[in-house]
Amino acid sequence: MDDAALSILRHTFGYSDFRLQQREIIDTLIRGEDAVVLMPTGGGKSLCYQIPALVREGTGIVISPLIALMQDQVVALQEQGVSAAFLNSTLDAQTSRQIEQDLVNGDIDLLYVAPERLNTPGFINLLRQLKISLFAIDEAHCVSQWGHDFRPDYIQLSLLHEQFPEVPRIALTATADETTRTEIRQRLQLQQARLFIASFDRPNICYRISESGSNARNALLRFILNEHENHAGIVYCLSRSKVESTARWLCDKGLTALPYHAGLSAQLREKHQQRFLKEDAVIIVATIAFGMGIDKPDVRFVAHLNLPKSMEAYYQETGRAGRDGLPADAWMAYGLQDVIMLKQMMQQSDADEQHKRVEHHKLEAMLGFTEITGCRRQALLAYFNETLEQPCGNCDNCIKPVDTWDATTAAQKALSSVYRTGQRFGVNYLIDVLTGKQTERIVQFGHDRLAVFGVGKEFTAAQWRNIFRQLISRNLLNVDLEGHGSLRLSDSCRPVLRGEEKLFLRKETKTEKAARRGRKAVAADKTENNALWQALRECRKQLADEHNLPPYMIFHDATLSEMMQRMPQNREQFGRISGVGEKKLENYADAFLAVIEQHRESPGGRKAGDSINETLALFREGCDIATIAEQRGLKLNTIYSHLASAIEQGEIKLEQVIDLPESEISLIHDTLLSVYQENKKLSDAYNALDGGYEYHTLRCVQAALMPDRQ
Ligand code: ADP
Ligand code: ZN
Repeated sequence: MDDAALSILRHTFGYSDFRLQQREIIDTLIRGEDAVVLMPTGGGKSLCYQIPALVREGTGIVISPLIALMQDQVVALQEQGVSAAFLNSTLDAQTSRQIEQDLVNGDIDLLYVAPERLNTPGFINLLRQLKISLFAIDEAHCVSQWGHDFRPDYIQLSLLHEQFPEVPRIALTATADETTRTEIRQRLQLQQARLFIASFDRPNICYRISESGSNARNALLRFILNEHENHAGIVYCLSRSKVESTARWLCDKGLTALPYHAGLSAQLREKHQQRFLKEDAVIIVATIAFGMGIDKPDVRFVAHLNLPKSMEAYYQETGRAGRDGLPADAWMAYGLQDVIMLKQMMQQSDADEQHKRVEHHKLEAMLGFTEITGCRRQALLAYFNETLEQPCGNCDNCIKPVDTWDATTAAQKALSSVYRTGQRFGVNYLIDVLTGKQTERIVQFGHDRLAVFGVGKEFTAAQWRNIFRQLISRNLLNVDLEGHGSLRLSDSCRPVLRGEEKLFLRKETKTEKAARRGRKAVAADKTENNALWQALRECRKQLADEHNLPPYMIFHDATLSEMMQRMPQNREQFGRISGVGEKKLENYADAFLAVIEQHRESPGGRKAGDSINETLALFREGCDIATIAEQRGLKLNTIYSHLASAIEQGEIKLEQVIDLPESEISLIHDTLLSVYQENKKLSDAYNALDGGYEYHTLRCVQAALMPDRQ
């Protein structure tokens, strides 16, 4: 095979090798044949049409449903030196005309358009004047009338085949199910096309689900502070009001969290989305309205504060994490209330019976998934008809195997409490009965005289809620149709009730800690506290701001990470780093090389600790802090953070660094303590002190007085 494709992969995109199926897909198109590609998010679909469009003569026409995404991709391509453009309604007439002229002149290799444009005769006439290398139909599942992303204009795309039969076509999607696949082939007349189905596994995503009752929000905060304090993430909630209150609450805790839901004005949504893309460490708190069209590769976590309605939704929403292939978390906390609410919503929906049955089935699958004790990834992939032979080792159940306990007796007690009270009461009432609470209502109904009254004192109310949740999830109990939350026995509970079948339930443990321990191993070389890492990120942010681009369009985290490992010394070495193509080498190599140079000691690079030691050595020699910063070419803040960790280690004393009277130190100390007691952050202490002390002062005091914090 002619290796024009490989050459473009290396020189233009800066990657050394193709991924699994990319090569074959690309060759298929270069040969002029059609392809249908099913690949998960982050799998690398874009190159599958971009490279053949560059190899083949003429312009590649990419049909993409979202204007925002289109713009993003074009800018990213231009950054890599590819001549790309888009035509859509956001352009003024003059710009459009210019692009059309460039097209006719053969100056554009890739053109992105919205599907509706293809229905205009003017556009088809324009296409007739061009040499077209291929048609790429992105997000091809939009042709599916049954999917939620249906776009009527996609139906018309079969016209491409009729009008330009000789031009190869490629349809791409990350939607996995069989029906959608068949629809794509039929509606786009791609029955003859070669089908490529990649594995839908996202190995870098760690799946974690915990039961947290009413404490989900606190659990979320702990999760973010412990593992993702400086990361971008998405938090999904079911309702607009919960989105608003959660965002506000996270902001109160010192994080940058922005709400996003259909009730906000378009401008505000756009503003929040832009901040999410362009700033570091922004958290979007959203309803499911957010996500489609977000191509941000470095979303490090997706958190659910409510149960998604189906496994499809769960897979799609969690899939927005870790597109760049680096470790990411799909985290969820849910409780009994979620289970009851979703079941009620489903029962009350006015869909027809068949629809309801399907929805119900999907919810059951989702609930079952939350309660499983085996590998989450195996179960998730199995749902999409894919087999994973071994447990994955990167989900909560794998990292810390779940204990189960024989809950048969407990279940019998719970079920009889439902039965004996007439199947008319909700969980709270039933728990009061089981734990023997003589409430007014219980006495009024005479339920304190039942045999089940007080038989469940061995468990706390919280433990009972947990048991009830699992019974409902496993369909042993049904939630009433009227929506009052009362519980009824289902047919499937009989064997358990009669003692013919044993029931084992999950033992709830602190999976959080276990999961965290496991992740340490995964992210062993994550060196975010390293001064070089920070400096590289700063350099990227600065360039991004100058060019008005999101930082990831300069370089992805993975590329920065490789810079740290390899410590390139010149342009040639820099060019070998994955993700550095010729154009970016030209534009950005010098800036990053300079940063790396400042952090070099030996050609092999250094460890994070060495930098601290170097600061410390100068400090001990009597240099003042500004001088150290200047001499080392580092920021003042970085030097202070070195000194703070030395204080924390007991290597130097606070007084050597911070020149303040005893009384002021103790004021700062007290403020820090009170702020932390309320689970607040350093910024709150800073504000509480009216900004009278620098952050680095606060950090040093914190290091001296609370060495075991963190
Ligand atoms: P998708 O469209 O399937 O969600 P993308 O095309 O955005 O995925 O690719 C995901 C990420 O993987 C991008 O950062 C892309 O640059 C990177 N990538 C794609 N192909 C390769 C490759 N062969 N080698 C290294 N990185 C790649
Ligand atoms: Zn697993």
